[in-house]
Amino acid sequence: MVVIGAGALGLSTALHCALAGRSATVVERHTAGSQASGRAAGLFKSVQADELRTMLARRSIEKAASFADWAGVPLEVARPGSFLIARTAQHREYLRRELAQSAGWGADVREASGAQLAGGLSYYRAVGVEFALWCPEDIYIEEPASLVRAYLDACALHGATVLENEPAVGISVTDGRVAGVETARRSIAARAVVDAAGGWVRQVAELAGARVPVAPVRHQLLITAPVAEVDPADPIARVVDAAVYLRPARGGLMLGGFEAGPLPLDPRQQPDSFSTDDVPLDLGVLRALAGQVGAEVPVAGGAPVAEHRGGLFTMSPDGRFVAGPVPEVPGLWVASGCNGSGFSSSPALGEALAAWITTGDAPLGMTALAPGRFGPLPDDELVTRGLWQYAHYYDPAAPDPG
Ligand SMILES: Cc1cc2nc3c(=O)[nH]c(=O)nc-3n(C[C@H](O)[C@H](O)[C@H](O)COP(=O)(O)OP(=O)(O)OC[C@H]3O[C@@H](n4cnc5c(N)ncnc54)[C@H](O)[C@@H]3O)c2cc1C
Repeated sequence: MVVIGAGALGLSTALHCALAGRSATVVERHTAGSQASGRAAGLFKSVQADELRTMLARRSIEKAASFADWAGVPLEVARPGSFLIARTAQHREYLRRELAQSAGWGADVREASGAQLAGGLSYYRAVGVEFALWCPEDIYIEEPASLVRAYLDACALHGATVLENEPAVGISVTDGRVAGVETARRSIAARAVVDAAGGWVRQVAELAGARVPVAPVRHQLLITAPVAEVDPADPIARVVDAAVYLRPARGGLMLGGFEAGPLPLDPRQQPDSFSTDDVPLDLGVLRALAGQVGAEVPVAGGAPVAEHRGGLFTMSPDGRFVAGPVPEVPGLWVASGCNGSGFSSSPALGEALAAWITTGDAPLGMTALAPGRFGPLPDDELVTRGLWQYAHYYDPAAPDPG
């Protein structure tokens, strides 16, 4: 099998296929992890909006934390847990619902006392109106490149080949089904091809005459210079009413978040050379988000910015992954629709997709993520619904307008 794209999703899928005894080759246009995966905040979150995503998220946490045991190479993981914080009546209600449903789906989530929040998060000054949940399972990976490195080393260890600086330029289809991949340098015969091209997933699918229902949307974060106010051992915090996430990073604080008016960006409408480095960044968006937690987390907006980075999420119309076989082209598979959690879901999603590809049977619940589930959707509706999902990232109980 051939995987197109050496981000977290493609590498994990190839690795799990190799672990299942399949030959696997990954072709990558640039270098592995150089696009969205290398820009991620590295956060893993056990509380999710439905049972399947909860299962995938928790399985991924387990696999990241035990990476050496199953993949044979080390991976360093920070396991400080996380707080989910709400400061408005409406968001307190959301969190109460999340507590009940996530606990029902097996996640370890508990209501946090005011004292626990005040004592457990050095960079956050509680103002007393907070309702908070404590999620002890949650982890992060300090530098996203270390997960990419671990996947690459594990691929090498288990016989999966990764070809960098080698874009896929064609997908051959014979008698209606996939027969292989053309790169600028070679033809590779394959009965299964996985499109894991991140923000470019639609162009790559189009090489086989297929359509993938995702809309790329910009996402950004910043890391402050090192500051005394942040204890590097502190937990992650997500202030849901402000749509902001925070964690210790490199001695400073990382802040990222979800603006109400996000920027869609379709690489198909950009020059061929377009890469993540060309995604326009806007520090004003992050300054505004930092301002929404200015009283509680003064360091977020007050400390000098040491790094500002961004890239593309692939948003789907229902906020769920797009992963599985493409109905119109047998042999073509998709690993996409990350909706902002492709990095952290990659261990379990790659595992599930590889099981589906190698056995022909969908693991429990996975058919719900199949790319054919939306039917034909006009592009403008795809973008509108993708933007809506982005802007409502921490409002899982909000109804999808679609
Ligand atoms: C700022 C930021 C913060 C984020 N934080 C988190 C987080 O905390 N937790 C989390 O879970 N997720 C996070 N995400 C989302 C996460 O980064 C993505 O969901 C994940 O990286 C997607 O992985 P991918 O493999 O689909 O895409 P990518 O990493 O973009 O990989 C796709 C690859 O395909 C390659 N490609 C494209 N076209 C071709 C072609 N024709 N031939 C060969 N190769 C091709 C690209 O070069 C690229 O390397 C964040 C994203 C951003 C931008």
